[in-house]
Amino acid sequence: MSATAASLRNQFPLLAAAPDLHYLDSAATAQIHRLALDAMLHHEATRRANVLRGTYRLAEAADLAYEQARAIAARFLNAGAADEIVFTSGATASLNLVAHAFGNTLKAGDRVLISVAEHHSNFVPWQMLRERTGIELALIPLGADGQLDLAGLPELLDRNCRLVAVTHCSNVTGAMTDVATLVAAARRVGARVLLDGAQAVQHGPQDVRGMDVDFYAFSGHKCFGPGGVGVLWSRGELLAAMPPFLTGGGMIASVTNEVATWAEPPQRFEAGTPPIAQAVGLGAALEWMMGLPWARIHATEGHLCEMLITGLQCIPGLRLLGPQASAQRAPIVSFDIPGLHPHDICQVLDGHRLALRGGHHCAQPLLAALGVEACTRASIALYTDEAEIEALLDGLDYAVKVLT
Ligand code: PLP
Repeated sequence: MSATAASLRNQFPLLAAAPDLHYLDSAATAQIHRLALDAMLHHEATRRANVLRGTYRLAEAADLAYEQARAIAARFLNAGAADEIVFTSGATASLNLVAHAFGNTLKAGDRVLISVAEHHSNFVPWQMLRERTGIELALIPLGADGQLDLAGLPELLDRNCRLVAVTHCSNVTGAMTDVATLVAAARRVGARVLLDGAQAVQHGPQDVRGMDVDFYAFSGHKCFGPGGVGVLWSRGELLAAMPPFLTGGGMIASVTNEVATWAEPPQRFEAGTPPIAQAVGLGAALEWMMGLPWARIHATEGHLCEMLITGLQCIPGLRLLGPQASAQRAPIVSFDIPGLHPHDICQVLDGHRLALRGGHHCAQPLLAALGVEACTRASIALYTDEAEIEALLDGLDYAVKVLT
């Protein structure tokens, strides 16, 4: 194992304690960094109190820690202001929030454009919105190269299109979306753009203002932080124009017997007690990520991805799903071996201490477009090493032999 990967791996308690484990399922959940765990323990042990409610010093310390985490998330995304960050329970909750709050500003006949490559959490909320309001839901298809086919955008993006909501990076094929082309086309008809950043954030800080998008959603557990917390970013003026999604404590300006009025964002969208320690842990993970040498990490991830793809292509009959070149993708690699079920493959690999995901990956429309019902996925993270890719290729050789 190279010195860099070994020193990174040792910063993750679970990996440090299991040197023989090849964890290749970081697209599902990345391992949590020690700093995030430490920050949460410190918070719970020294500052545990509810936030934005108490006037005693302990509660004020909790407020401060929570708001500091918000400011860190804003820097991680290059947001305009900390108040543009809404803490949620994860990407799914962030996407549902937009489908309800922004969705409530839409009417029958308005169009929302998603893609066939979406995770179910950026698919089903829009189908439900269509049922509630009569919006039209249109789909960007998949191109032959495994990328979204943006050639038909002029027809798909008519004047009724109010929102384009697509994944920043596919959780199945690793394909990165051409955000610049999408945003330029959306702007021509005045449509807003939402990016589901769940898979992109693990590969470095993002620049929502540079990309000129309107909404960005992600989960803490996919970027080395804890589970149960996520982020929705949007422009201040857009958040201010949206009604709440969930209602209850903490999100009101006033409540009378007859009527309630709303707090300003972000509190308007944080009904109830938020995941406080988790937000603090996420802040620690994001702060750590912002200090990393990303150019070097991307080069290593790209090299490992290339090595994996080259090795996979030597397995007779194996079909690689999505872009073939590692340059067009994040290091998420899915494949199909006709006649072998992904669950069986993963079970055999588990015997070799290889942790991979097999199934439909919560992206059934994408798998249907790719012509498979299920596939096996290996995802590479910053703690992955060459030896683990070799172990995977050896394990697959063995799996093919015992399963055929
Ligand atoms: N979007 C994408 C692209 C994902 O890969 C995932 C999870 O795998 C999600 C959304 C949902 O994330 P979560 O389950 O953390 O809410």
